[in-house]
Amino acid sequence: MKWSIEKSITGGFGIALLVLSLIGGLGYRNITQLVVTANWVNHTYRVLEAQEVLLFHIANAEAGQRGYVITGQEEYLEPYYISTNTINDQVDTLQRLTADNPRQQQRLNTLRPLLQQRLDKLQAVLDTRQEQGFTAAQQAIREARGRQVMDAIRRLMDEMTTEENRLLQQRSHQAELATRNTTLVVAISGFLAAVLLPIAAITLNRDIRRRKTVELALQESETKLKGWVGELEQRSREIALLGELSDVLQACFTLGEAYAVVAELVQPLFPGMSGAIYITSESRNLVEAIASWGPLSLQPIMFDPTDCWALRRGRAYFIDNGDSSLRCQHLQAPWPTQYCCIPLMAQGDALGTLYLAASNKDDFTPTKRLLTGTVAEHIALAFANLKLRESLRNQSIRDPLTNLFNRRYMEESLEREVRRAERNRQPLGIVMLDIDHFKRFNDTFGHEAGDAVLREVGLLIRNSIRASDIACRYGGEELMLLLPDASLEATRQRAEHIREAVSHLSVHYHRQALGMITLSAGVASYPLHGPTGEAVTRMADTALYRAKAAGRDRVMVADETLVASSASPDAE
Ligand code: GH3
Ligand code: MG
Ligand code: MG
Repeated sequence: MKWSIEKSITGGFGIALLVLSLIGGLGYRNITQLVVTANWVNHTYRVLEAQEVLLFHIANAEAGQRGYVITGQEEYLEPYYISTNTINDQVDTLQRLTADNPRQQQRLNTLRPLLQQRLDKLQAVLDTRQEQGFTAAQQAIREARGRQVMDAIRRLMDEMTTEENRLLQQRSHQAELATRNTTLVVAISGFLAAVLLPIAAITLNRDIRRRKTVELALQESETKLKGWVGELEQRSREIALLGELSDVLQACFTLGEAYAVVAELVQPLFPGMSGAIYITSESRNLVEAIASWGPLSLQPIMFDPTDCWALRRGRAYFIDNGDSSLRCQHLQAPWPTQYCCIPLMAQGDALGTLYLAASNKDDFTPTKRLLTGTVAEHIALAFANLKLRESLRNQSIRDPLTNLFNRRYMEESLEREVRRAERNRQPLGIVMLDIDHFKRFNDTFGHEAGDAVLREVGLLIRNSIRASDIACRYGGEELMLLLPDASLEATRQRAEHIREAVSHLSVHYHRQALGMITLSAGVASYPLHGPTGEAVTRMADTALYRAKAAGRDRVMVADETLVASSASPDAE
């Protein structure tokens, strides 16, 4: 089981505290013991000293008595009296000092009468000397047997000294033991302090380091987490914007509509960046800008596809330093710090390129680079869909040979244009056209030559009318024009202009001139020539037949006088 660092530190400090308390207790006990033992040693010295003093005074009293006995001079009596007076006090002192020792007390009890006896003897000899002279005193000394008493006193004193010396030895030994123990305790505490403190310091240090590491790791994790949250938010914003880009582009009906909105949709996906979207022309020899944004988007409106490395290689091209000679040729100064060109690929075909430029060095993060690819894919897919939709739509409403609208579209348009003319109170011009002797081209040069004539006439007509006019192949070599807002005269003039232009057309098939082409036309106008589109068309058709009948290569205007009969079913 691994202990937590808190437990280790608490345990370590607990043990250290216990050891220190133990050492403190032991130290206190040893020092107290040392003091007590030292006091006892001191006490023994004082007992010994008191004994010495007692012996000195006994000897002094004897010396004083002896001096007086020999000389008879009074001055010897002075030390005698001092010592005899002190001896009893000294015995009292000894009695007090050895109160704890019954053996010494017993000796002192024996000593006290012996001393008194001795002192009495000394006094008796002194008295004899004073009263009876030297010889009598000599005699008294001899008879007094003082020597035996004195020996007994000395023996007792020796015993006491021996006892005290023994005690002194014993107490010194104890003091020595106490000192050694104290030294040992101090040494052990020193050793423990020297060992435990570094251990505690190392443990604490290690813990602090570990905590710092953990704190750093936590801080790092927090920073990372914040970064991830920020990135996630950014990703979800980008996903929402991508969804919007897709939705809006899918909701567009034509490429023109898509070109108009795409810049506004792409821009928020790359904040702070400039950009442009280029589309490859049908002829594939030109790339043209259909949208651009930001200050660095001041790029050419069009350039050669070979000027772009992305279009050449068919994959994204990133440049971290716009100043580099590796940049695309279509870039213009001032160079962006970073830029990229992403080809708009759909079914292996490059529809154009998405150009993005940044003025900051780190704007194209790896995730931003991935995003550029996704955005380009979305745009390419939407553009390809719209292109396909437009071509399908064209296929369904246009005649593939002449590229003019087909009859079905014409019928739809006729109804619509008549309603509009009625609403706007404007005329609607209708022209029916038929190529003269068309069968001859087929018969003389073959069916394909006839097709070539139809194609050329169709092209000429498309170029001769306004964008709002509608030209269609009505069937075979018969064509029809709807000219909204054109008066009868304007319609006639337009038909005349076309007839004239066709007559100057020179069509070649297999390098062979197919000869002059002429056409006849019948012109009518709504509402002048009938109340419905159909009625007016019939009137134009009738006029066409009249033109044929009149010798072809001419334009005939419908006869107003026939309107009533032609419009009325009764006239049939
Ligand atoms: P007219 O001056 O009276 O109009 O004489 P025409 O020869 O033009 O008239 P006609 O109606 O007799 O002949 C029309 C021919 O056009 C018949 C048909 O074979 C041919 N034709 C119709 N559609 C096509 C087409 O798509 N291609 C070609 N090459 N010929 C076509
Ligand atoms: Mg014809
Ligand atoms: Mg015909």
